[in-house]
Amino acid sequence: MAQKAFASSADLGEKEQTLEVLADGVYALTAEGDPNVGAIEGEDFLVCFEAMATPVAAAEWLARLREHTDKPVRYLVLSHYHAVRVLGASAFDADVIVAHENTRALVAERGKEDWESEFGRMPRLAKQADSVPGLTWPTLTFSDRLTIDLGGDRGDLVLQYCGRGHTEGDIVGWLPRHRILFAGDLVEAQAALYTGDAFHRDWASGTLDRVKAFGAEALVGGRGAVSRGREEVDAAVEQTRHFLRVMIDEVSAVHERGGTLKEAFGRTHAALYDQYGHWPIFEHCLPFDVSRLWDELSGIERPVIWTAERDREVWDQLQD
Ligand SMILES: [Zn+2]
Repeated sequence: MAQKAFASSADLGEKEQTLEVLADGVYALTAEGDPNVGAIEGEDFLVCFEAMATPVAAAEWLARLREHTDKPVRYLVLSHYHAVRVLGASAFDADVIVAHENTRALVAERGKEDWESEFGRMPRLAKQADSVPGLTWPTLTFSDRLTIDLGGDRGDLVLQYCGRGHTEGDIVGWLPRHRILFAGDLVEAQAALYTGDAFHRDWASGTLDRVKAFGAEALVGGRGAVSRGREEVDAAVEQTRHFLRVMIDEVSAVHERGGTLKEAFGRTHAALYDQYGHWPIFEHCLPFDVSRLWDELSGIERPVIWTAERDREVWDQLQD
């Protein structure tokens, strides 16, 4: 195999961003496999979902949103702690930054390391990286469910923890009135999964079952196009589950017979490649994904913290 450029370090072409109005006052910005963001209008305020990687990147998204509404941002909801989704927070000038309690703990435990790791892996997303003023700290956390009354006859936005998955603190945003689900990185629509901080077996079973049980008519995943209609929504959930299941099967088989991490990587890559190899960030993610799953199967309960140095070590070991 030819030497591959580290993670997404050579992926520098601009992606086209598409702003979609999913229902009256419900917005999604997708970007050809780059991280998605969203916004929901309350009667006299806005809820933004995800913050992008830097304030400069976030300001560009807000400028587009401002073509539709000038309401102030009361809530900024973070689906999980990953740097490319949270470090743009200061641009929103939000009254409240909401996340799961585990997300706050993860920021404290590994936010700094994750920042360096992710900006090294995905330099294109780190638009004007020096505009980030520091770590993003949630100011309101919850453990199970938090409901935001949108005011008027707009109904509720329900923020729900569905169990451990992409991280140990992912939450989804559910609009029962419109049956629209913002799923964060728990579901990807035709983009590869990043599972380097994941709990694969929980994610592939109970957590995705709970996501699917909303019965959404539209789903905004972490990356990829908006899924519209029950069929597409269920397909996105099941595609995510399939990716995880193939990984679990392949890595387990090598692990159980006393093989090596490198063998597990080769076998998993081969098993996923035909169906998923052309999807965004597939080659970028897989070494980190297999490495974490190997640890999980070895009884390492919580993901080992990724640092810029560890990223390179695992990459050089597997992706050569
Ligand atoms: Zn993530």
